[in-house]
Amino acid sequence: MKSANLTGRLAREHRTMAKMTRLYCQAQCDGRRNDAGVCPACDELLAYAEQKLDRCPYGEEKPTCGNCPIHCYKPAQRQQARGIMRYAGPRMVLRHPLAAVQHILDSRRPVPERPPMQANRRRRSRPRPLQP
Ligand SMILES: [Zn+2]
Repeated sequence: MKSANLTGRLAREHRTMAKMTRLYCQAQCDGRRNDAGVCPACDELLAYAEQKLDRCPYGEEKPTCGNCPIHCYKPAQRQQARGIMRYAGPRMVLRHPLAAVQHILDSRRPVPERPPMQANRRRRSRPRPLQP
């Protein structure tokens, strides 16, 4: 699944998340899977993740989500994402080694002191409906 909105590091994170979600979905979900290889519930989570990445106050300076001091996911989505990470995390090293190594390197970068001033610039310049 390719994001139409994200660029750079944020786009890469979304691609990694999509890979992890596919691994998880193929092993754990029963629903009918779409062209991207995920069921409707996982597809919805990926859309939610894309929206959150798009609005991340850190932008390109974003720390990995596991290191982030801001908890921007709602509890249900957070739990869903954690289940995916727990399942797919160890398997990524074998299935997608480059993405796994990249993520490990990213997770060693220091967390920026606080979000840069242009935080949420996208929301101001290009309003889109909020997802519940
Ligand atoms: Zn699924």
